[in-house]
Amino acid sequence: MALHRGASSAKLLCNLRNFTKIPSFLGSRLVSDTSKAVEASASEVTGDHVLYTPEHFAMKESLRKIIDLEINPHVDQWEAEGMFPAHKVFKILGNAGFLGVSKPVEYGGLGLDFSYSVAVAEELGHIRCGGVPMAIGVQSDMATPALARFGSAELKQEFLLPSILGDKVACLGVSEVGAGSDVSSIKTKAVRKGDEYVINGGKMWTTNGAQADWMCLLANTSDGPPHRNKSLICLPMNLPGVHVARKIDKMGMRSSDTAEVFLDDVRVPCKNVIGEEGMGFTYQMLQFQEERLWGAANVLTSMDNIIQETIDYTKQRKIFKRPVLHHQSVHFRLAELQTEVELLRSLLHRATALYIKGNDVTKLASMAKLKAGRLTREVSDSCLQYWGGMGFTSDVMVSRYYRDSRLLSIGGGADEVMLSIICKYMDTLPKI
Ligand SMILES: Cc1cc2nc3c(=O)[nH]c(=O)nc-3n(C[C@H](O)[C@H](O)[C@H](O)COP(=O)(O)OP(=O)(O)OC[C@H]3O[C@@H](n4cnc5c(N)ncnc54)[C@H](O)[C@@H]3O)c2cc1C
Repeated sequence: MALHRGASSAKLLCNLRNFTKIPSFLGSRLVSDTSKAVEASASEVTGDHVLYTPEHFAMKESLRKIIDLEINPHVDQWEAEGMFPAHKVFKILGNAGFLGVSKPVEYGGLGLDFSYSVAVAEELGHIRCGGVPMAIGVQSDMATPALARFGSAELKQEFLLPSILGDKVACLGVSEVGAGSDVSSIKTKAVRKGDEYVINGGKMWTTNGAQADWMCLLANTSDGPPHRNKSLICLPMNLPGVHVARKIDKMGMRSSDTAEVFLDDVRVPCKNVIGEEGMGFTYQMLQFQEERLWGAANVLTSMDNIIQETIDYTKQRKIFKRPVLHHQSVHFRLAELQTEVELLRSLLHRATALYIKGNDVTKLASMAKLKAGRLTREVSDSCLQYWGGMGFTSDVMVSRYYRDSRLLSIGGGADEVMLSIICKYMDTLPKI
């Protein structure tokens, strides 16, 4: 039986009107190679699902049409160019409500619970690269959760509303050249001068950084202990002293721009601090929960698709007088991988169900992120093998996925950081 969702049924019906409009203007044509997956989802609409209702599936279907018509046809070009047009794509998604499904209605969101964001993240996995969905996730579920939860009405009006509508592009500035895994050791400083902060430092690996209108910036606002001296600040990227130094050339996620940003005597009003000054580290750790659930959800679908495309390819490719797929080591391995994907899906949906009921799911979210990072590497590596030389070319999706999927074990908290968190909950982490 489907679990209860947080939104009232009246609000839900009202919100669904937004979704049901979308298929009519987009029509029913699907252009993806993976339409089988859509058929599978459609059949689930009538069946029981542990987390999703028919409304979740209707929403996924609407998003799928946008992906197939507005995004996938351009992905190869964006990958080749090393950047996708974030303002254009976000406006399309914002118009349809997909950038703020679990954000407050007063600020343009749909006011639904986080299970809808997870459903959106899963569906975004149909985009035929990792870079574009990651950039969308930064906008909807990585740079904005703390603002939505703790920001002042004025800040939400200025930064959250236009981000949800797709009018402003957001980025998240946590990592620095000298501090990635150890977030507490960041050096960027915001010093109060009257009613302004003067900010000096820099951010590294900033997704959307080359195109962003504002950054959710983590900076030290005092000399206190590292977990109480940081604040999250809404930083407009057009201020004097904000320098986007370079777009980083990466092995994967090529359509997503990743920037290094220098902050040189940047003056920002103190009212741009999100919530309480000094609480930024705590807010960021909370924000990471949604980021990690989102990340695990997003790769589930791409793993399904890569396994399915590998089945399709190996079915028609013959070696030693029979299809590659008919060799037992191949179909058994694909069955093993699909089993692991389903296990991850169960963990994710359980964590999400607990999260929307108000539970702290730090341990389960960290486990899901850890498993997702490792499994996505395993799936891409094993599947690529069965494509033979074709898998080593740039012409096939499996090789792009092989490159893109490598990031999940590093970004948003490396595998070892997830293991440390899990160990803390198991009380096995040595106290130094
Ligand atoms: C494409 C891309 C996009 C990104 N987007 C953003 C973004 O939008 N915003 C943002 O703030 N950051 C972003 N990041 C940064 C990302 O979150 C960091 O790269 C990540 O947190 C790791 O930090 P680091 O690169 O500094 O590695 P380091 O901190 O130097 O760690 C190196 C390695 O040490 C290992 N390690 C870590 N902790 C332990 C431990 N306790 N025990 C043993 N080994 C350990 C891990 O294997 C880790 O990979 C992005 C990174 C990339 C590559």
